[in-house]
Amino acid sequence: MSTADFIAKAQELFPYTQKLRREFHRHPELGLEEKRTARRIVEELEELPGLTVQPGVGKTGVVALLEGGSPGPVVLLRVDMDALPMMEENDVPYASQNDGVMHACGHDGHIAMGLAAAKLLHAQRENLAGMVKFVFQPAEEGDGGAALMIGDGVLENPRPDYALALHLWNEKPLDWYGIAPGPTMASAETFSIKVTGKGGHGAAPHNAIDPILAAAHIVTSLQSIVSREVEPVDAGVVSITSIHGGTSHNIIPPEVEMLGTTRSFEADTREHILKRLREIVAGVAETFRCEAEVELDDVSPAVVNDPEVTARAQAVARRLFPDGTITTEYQTMGAEDMALMMEKIPGCYLLIGSANASKGLDAKHHHPLFDFDEEALIYGSALISAVAADILRF
Ligand SMILES: [Zn+2]
Ligand SMILES: [Zn+2]
Repeated sequence: MSTADFIAKAQELFPYTQKLRREFHRHPELGLEEKRTARRIVEELEELPGLTVQPGVGKTGVVALLEGGSPGPVVLLRVDMDALPMMEENDVPYASQNDGVMHACGHDGHIAMGLAAAKLLHAQRENLAGMVKFVFQPAEEGDGGAALMIGDGVLENPRPDYALALHLWNEKPLDWYGIAPGPTMASAETFSIKVTGKGGHGAAPHNAIDPILAAAHIVTSLQSIVSREVEPVDAGVVSITSIHGGTSHNIIPPEVEMLGTTRSFEADTREHILKRLREIVAGVAETFRCEAEVELDDVSPAVVNDPEVTARAQAVARRLFPDGTITTEYQTMGAEDMALMMEKIPGCYLLIGSANASKGLDAKHHHPLFDFDEEALIYGSALISAVAADILRF
């Protein structure tokens, strides 16, 4: 069997992959609550003789180890399992039966592709030199599933030499592939700012210290970080996404609270944005006689694709999809906690175009009408299997 044959095999397996995807879509579960999902993943993996299956890694995560016919490197293959707290608006037979919870990011497809890849690689195990560590990760959309799995030792015993992950990508059409070296997804931080002044009568501002005025200047001044201080060809985002203060027309409130997020690709850009965020908040607050506190939380570092693993994945993709669009330069300001695994293990995060406007399947991720062309499941499962097999000298 050659690399190109993974397409035919994934095609043969499509009824299985599609059935699973629809089942997971019907039964979405939120991060760290993926109990049914995990049980079904374990059941499917236990059908494959010789696979060592370990549930309960990172609370609801599942890890499975496939040993090849001869010794060699260990390839970690990660898919995420969680759904989102939103109401599905699709009128399809496989629509969510769990009200208020929806697979609106495509993780149902990721699980199905992960299980299909386990089947495809299991069938070829005698020809593989090394091991595949399948990682089904909970809570990618929040609650730190990757960190929990790392804490439970997913990167040890055996330690992976390479890491692969993928995302169905409705920003792009079917048969498009984003396989780019370097930073692909942004690092993300969230912050909260509390500006404290002194409350008073709206008609007597001279007796108060107005935190609303200070907050307004802070919002405006923070927008100078990206526009004036980050190199124009580099990327960064500072967004204030919530601002609260005050209760009435005639009361100057004692404090204002703000929330927001920052994004960047390069470590020094990230450092600069965060340093200046603190400085500007403190400086502007002081200018207006207020006090300010900033609390920062790291969400995840940037997803950085290893150049060698990425070149390998690109070569495999070219063999698999001679007519496909393979993009070797692509970045998104979205964030992914797979970055935490890829900080430690060289790897490649692959994006698989999955939209099909002619079928009305092009709503964006996290939209209540999100759905994708299921043909992408064939390409995605073939691609991750073939790249893993290529690394294991198939
Ligand atoms: Zn998402
Ligand atoms: Zn996602």
